[in-house]
Amino acid sequence: METILLKNIENPNSAEISEYLKTGGYRNLSKALALKPKDIIEETKKAGLRGRGGAGFPTAMKWSFAAADPKFPKYLVCNADEGEPGTFKDRPLLEKNPHLLIEGMAISGYALGAEYGYIYLRGEYPFAKDVLNKAIKQAYEKNYLGDNILGKNIKFHLTVYQGAGAYICGEETALIESLEGRRGQPRSKPPFPVNFGAWNMPTIVNNVETLSNLPYVIQVGGEAYSKIGSKDCTGPKLFCVSGCVEKPGVYELPMGTSLKEIIYNHAGGIKNGKKLKAVFPGGISTPILPADKTDCPMDFISMPRHGSMLGSGAVIVMDESVCMVKVAYRALKFFEHESCGKCTPCREGTDWLRKILERIEHGKGREGDIELLSQVADVIYGRTFCPLGDSAAGLVMSMIKYFKNEIEEHIKNAKCVMSKE
Ligand code: SF4
Repeated sequence: METILLKNIENPNSAEISEYLKTGGYRNLSKALALKPKDIIEETKKAGLRGRGGAGFPTAMKWSFAAADPKFPKYLVCNADEGEPGTFKDRPLLEKNPHLLIEGMAISGYALGAEYGYIYLRGEYPFAKDVLNKAIKQAYEKNYLGDNILGKNIKFHLTVYQGAGAYICGEETALIESLEGRRGQPRSKPPFPVNFGAWNMPTIVNNVETLSNLPYVIQVGGEAYSKIGSKDCTGPKLFCVSGCVEKPGVYELPMGTSLKEIIYNHAGGIKNGKKLKAVFPGGISTPILPADKTDCPMDFISMPRHGSMLGSGAVIVMDESVCMVKVAYRALKFFEHESCGKCTPCREGTDWLRKILERIEHGKGREGDIELLSQVADVIYGRTFCPLGDSAAGLVMSMIKYFKNEIEEHIKNAKCVMSKE
């Protein structure tokens, strides 16, 4: 498949507008502005584009709610708060192909009737901030942003807003709270941001990768776009592969490419000839899969049928030497730290799960600890305000489901069974 999102990024000057224009950049914005906003939404619907942030919600459907809301102004927010461990798929887009994102946002802003856009950028991406600000300045100078885009009396302004490094701000309502200058904690839903978002106005929050798909949807049309990928999950997808593989990196492949193919055909297989043990297919928020369950298509519909989720497409690979208790403990340490504290099952439960895993990992596990882990995870699951609590509980549940023996061995031997000592 030709690269669409990562096109031209080997060019060391790919972030410059002059280079972007040489490859046909901003032509799709011009084409889109000749269409009616509702026609752009219709093309996006035909394309079957789904949000790439993790939930996979149909983009055109989300847009249609905000577009139909008579309140004004409307806002378009790009979620660039890429904080999920193992996830770095948006980074090359932000740092090397910023004009693709800006063009996608200008097209989306026009389709939605939004005159103001924000890129909510991860706090730990200072280089991307500089690249984006420079690219935005260039786009203003060339009249691709501003009050009179391409002389058509269409307005769209764009600002980069940098977060302070909180994982929870990747959740769209927490992101909006933070954007408004408050502590980043999720809001109660409904009402949904499409009607009551930033400053209580209709707001669309879309991921970097989602918005970067828009120029191509306009270029080839929704129907041609929908031919890429699998039947119900279309288009190109960025998969970022890390861990025990020969060639970690970001790979642009059709949606629905199998997890096995990503690991072995694209990421070079398991490092140093070792055996595959387990994979987080979409970041640590997605349930872990053992080696024999990796022959599954990576898309939003297929992955739940195979016991996990596509998530952000962050494939974290573990080989036979990796201790699963340590993996679970480190992941829970992260969730406990990032829990915003708003709801009790997550705030207290992640602390409990971390404590139990910590003692097992340190050779102080007790009889009944696995049952206790299960009980605490059960109490958290489905009872939290946002998906963070479910992610922590789901991780523990999948560890017990597939690696119970290894946890039992840790408790019985009072030490790490993977250790050579
Ligand atoms: Fe905060 Fe956790 Fe509750 Fe989400 S689930 S609102 S992160 S306490």
